[in-house]
Amino acid sequence: MEQRVELIGLSQPELIEFVDGLEEPAYRGRQVFAALQHRRLRSFAEMTDLPKELRARLNKVGQASTLKVESRYISSDGTRRYLMKTHDGLPVETVFIPEEHRDTICFSSQSGCPLQCTFCLTAQLGLLRSLTPGEIVEQILIALNDAYGVGVKPPRGTNLVGMGAGEPFLNFDSLLKALRIMADRNGLYIVSNRVTISTAGIVPKILDLAKVSDRPHLAISLAAPTDELRNELMPINKRWPLEELLKACKVFEKTLKPGELFTFEYVMLAGVNDSEEQARQLANLLNRHGLKAKVNLIPHNPAEPLPYRPSPEETVSRFKKILESKGIHTYVRRPRGRDIFAACGQLAARQETLNTCKEIRSVGVTS
Ligand code: SF4
Repeated sequence: MEQRVELIGLSQPELIEFVDGLEEPAYRGRQVFAALQHRRLRSFAEMTDLPKELRARLNKVGQASTLKVESRYISSDGTRRYLMKTHDGLPVETVFIPEEHRDTICFSSQSGCPLQCTFCLTAQLGLLRSLTPGEIVEQILIALNDAYGVGVKPPRGTNLVGMGAGEPFLNFDSLLKALRIMADRNGLYIVSNRVTISTAGIVPKILDLAKVSDRPHLAISLAAPTDELRNELMPINKRWPLEELLKACKVFEKTLKPGELFTFEYVMLAGVNDSEEQARQLANLLNRHGLKAKVNLIPHNPAEPLPYRPSPEETVSRFKKILESKGIHTYVRRPRGRDIFAACGQLAARQETLNTCKEIRSVGVTS
């Protein structure tokens, strides 16, 4: 049997082309796109403005949704964490963070992650596979429907951050396609300047992103001020060391819009990367390259079996002061959803996710 097309991963022009193949007029394509992306309907049966016969045909050849929510956890601070499953049983994690003036949805670009950052629980899964554009978009549709009801317009703006499981730049084309689908004004209409993508430092893709006119904002996970330490914490650094990474950032900097800064994320690990000397090294590194960047200090979220502890608050504020004294805008990120393992680096923390992956491995579904 021919595989059904994942319609949620098609752009509006592609959907028009798709319905053209069914000998339906272009307006039907626009209607289906709006039903999926704007009204956030997850089945053809709900699209009652389409003729019954067309709904039946669409159901035969296409899919309106593919992810299933396996579990949902709601934190005392309102953060919602979802563990979803793909059609082939792989875990996908998404976090919805309500804030006073906007909501932020942290989405995953891969199931698991091939990079081996030692402070990150997702790394323990390895890569299961990259997600399709539809699977990326669907995470946002599911989170919004759950928070506000099917198709209900969110009362605040929605920001997206590609900081969930996976290295987004190792799934570059699907990521960009998903972002373009979501930017469509007949769909979710979340435009690129509301989106930040975080990378561990895949240099060629930073350079590629610099050439994209409707690109999202860029964040780089740094975690260390020297190659020696970064090689240890983020082994991808052996492939693209700091000098090379920062040179790519310098190229990217030319594309920044007025007032736009790019972000370095720096996870604070007690006794590992949080000394005063390391703060000075970090400031010198960034200043030497003259980068228009801000630094986000991220409290580490301790979780078994990771060997790290979070830096004490005084250490974080001393680190921040040193960076600021060297002219670097520095912020301390407030951890959200700690009680439900939704905080940064804690996705995939739950035993259920790790167990799922062991099961998947035992039947040989790895990439
Ligand atoms: S920190 Fe990001 S890039 Fe590194 S292993 Fe975790 S998910 Fe992958």
